[in-house]
Amino acid sequence: MIYLDHAATTPVPPEVADAVREALVNQYGNPSSQYPLGREARDLVARCRETVARALGCEAERLVFTSCGTESDNWALRLAVWQGRHAGRHIVTTAVEHSAVLETCRQLEQEGCAVTYLKPGRDGSVTVEQVADALREDTVLVSVMLVNNETGCVFPVREIAELLKARGSKALLHTDAVQGFLKVPFCTGTLGADLISISAHKLGAPKGVGALYLGERVKNPRPLLAGGGQEGGLRSGTEATAQLAGFAKAVELRLAALDETLAHMASVKAYALERLLAIEGVERVGNGDAPHILAISLAGYPSANIVEELAARGICVSAGSACHRGRASHVYEAMGLPKRVKAGVVRVSFGPETRTDDIDALADALRAHRDARFPML
Ligand code: PLP
Repeated sequence: MIYLDHAATTPVPPEVADAVREALVNQYGNPSSQYPLGREARDLVARCRETVARALGCEAERLVFTSCGTESDNWALRLAVWQGRHAGRHIVTTAVEHSAVLETCRQLEQEGCAVTYLKPGRDGSVTVEQVADALREDTVLVSVMLVNNETGCVFPVREIAELLKARGSKALLHTDAVQGFLKVPFCTGTLGADLISISAHKLGAPKGVGALYLGERVKNPRPLLAGGGQEGGLRSGTEATAQLAGFAKAVELRLAALDETLAHMASVKAYALERLLAIEGVERVGNGDAPHILAISLAGYPSANIVEELAARGICVSAGSACHRGRASHVYEAMGLPKRVKAGVVRVSFGPETRTDDIDALADALRAHRDARFPML
């Protein structure tokens, strides 16, 4: 099988699976228990927090583990709106955020918030000037993702943080860094966001665990889940020790070879661009700089058919975002792509294991698809 869908999820390396197994089998205590088995599990959680925090360049206390990136996004938005409730109810975000952000914004609109959705350019970009124009006195939250999951576009989060500072805005800045963490180098100090969402399964770790970074400007955060007081009382629920062990091990592995991995993915992407754009009828979608995501379109050929046919040849790619399950992507819609281009978008995404041979196989399969079918639009 040729797996070219690392933006959807990633394979779990054996070392990570071993760490998960070790936690399940030998470190199965409840971190809240008083006896040594519990203490061992508590230490494990603390070590995992240190590891992930180190990768973000923040203090461990600033990191709260959650069950996924979606949970981190939901919580971040609600927490910011709660903190700003006496200052206003206006939110600035983009029309191309992950649905974890967009659907939470829709809920917040129903609860009385006003939301400005910034439209990207045809190349998928969003600018700091757009944010500057949208900011209002009553803006309490700006939520702009670091890397778009469908185009790989990197958004100017650091510049937005500087803008908010220069304007003296009280608005908190949230960034969904699920596709950016350990793909686009950053640390919390230089990025300047107050809230940062990450997810483990995009990095070779198990599904079902994520984290939210809470910066200094987040005051008395409203807990996400009330209960036994785990995660500093902010997110109750017995800690997912095995997933956390996998998360930390995956982060360790990525950190140990970060420069090589990023350079490798960037070179695979450059090779893919060359090979795929050489196919007549294929064009690039968006101008994404992230090293692991490339969106292309075989204009006029429905992407669901392409994905199915590639799958039959053992090649896994995505028709836009895996979360859409066949529905038209709001991202390509917002970019204003022509109907034919929008119809044929395929997202290819890479990992440390991807080889140029995989790209060759994809290019051959795409060419064969084009030759065997007629465009439907
Ligand atoms: N945000 C972005 C940009 C994503 O790509 C994803 C997953 O695809 C998520 C959030 C949701 O993360 P999770 O699957 O951990 O809920």
